[in-house]
Amino acid sequence: MPEGDTIYRSAAALRTALVGKTVTRFEAERLTGPSPRVHAAVESVDSHGKHLEITFDDGIVLHTHMRITGAWHLYRHGQKWKKRRHLARVIIETEEWIAVAFSAPIVETYRELDQSRHPRAGRLGPDLIRADADLHECAARLFHYDKPEATVAEALLDQRVMSGIGNVYRCEVLWACGVHPWAPMKNVPQSTCLDLVLTSAGMLRANLETPVRITAPDVPGGLAVYGRNGQKCVRCGDIIRLQKMGEMARLLYWCPGCQTGCEPYPERDDSDEIARATDPHPAGSQFVSDIIRHRSA
Ligand SMILES: [Zn+2]
Repeated sequence: MPEGDTIYRSAAALRTALVGKTVTRFEAERLTGPSPRVHAAVESVDSHGKHLEITFDDGIVLHTHMRITGAWHLYRHGQKWKKRRHLARVIIETEEWIAVAFSAPIVETYRELDQSRHPRAGRLGPDLIRADADLHECAARLFHYDKPEATVAEALLDQRVMSGIGNVYRCEVLWACGVHPWAPMKNVPQSTCLDLVLTSAGMLRANLETPVRITAPDVPGGLAVYGRNGQKCVRCGDIIRLQKMGEMARLLYWCPGCQTGCEPYPERDDSDEIARATDPHPAGSQFVSDIIRHRSA
């Protein structure tokens, strides 16, 4: 699953292989926008959050977004590809390398001067991996989030707030800050917003150059909750849970024991309180269900 740091590493590899080199073949079957001319050279490779942009010296910029499924691979000529050819959305060949974007849902090009199509034109939040990113600006965007009923876990993935956070970091950041994933944004105070942003930036930046993502150095495997459902939380000993959340049903790992910050106020349910206060004996249960039936009648 590509996150900001994965895209950053892809960009670094692509930069090393492609920048300054002449393109001998460019193929993108479902491309939206103009193709770079044959024998154009690659001028730059940039990542911005999960967006990757390759600029050619004829002014064409190729923009790809990987969402959940996509990945850039680099191959030598003659080397066997790790994915099937029909999944290739972009193929860029130079004399030495073949760069392939597999399964990228967004592949488009635009001319450099046409800022109206530019994905950065006011929509994306600051890129957390950049040292000059304004983290207070991100915290302000989070605090003034335009959907107050949305959960904090959803808001963290909204690239308009800040870019670079994917699902792994989302889970790890919420755990590190002890925040309940289902907390509605209207319950999240400014200080917590800043804490979430600073923690996110710290984790992303610490992992830029490392092959294995580590957000909790004290936990075997390096992650505190992600992928650890059913195991004990190292902070409180409670059992880590896995739940699906949101439209895309992203998997959310969290600890109900210590992620209680900004916890949503539970719906009041009297019948459940009566049941819990009563003896679990079958006769007791019968008594309780009678009460509930009479109350609702
Ligand atoms: Zn815990």
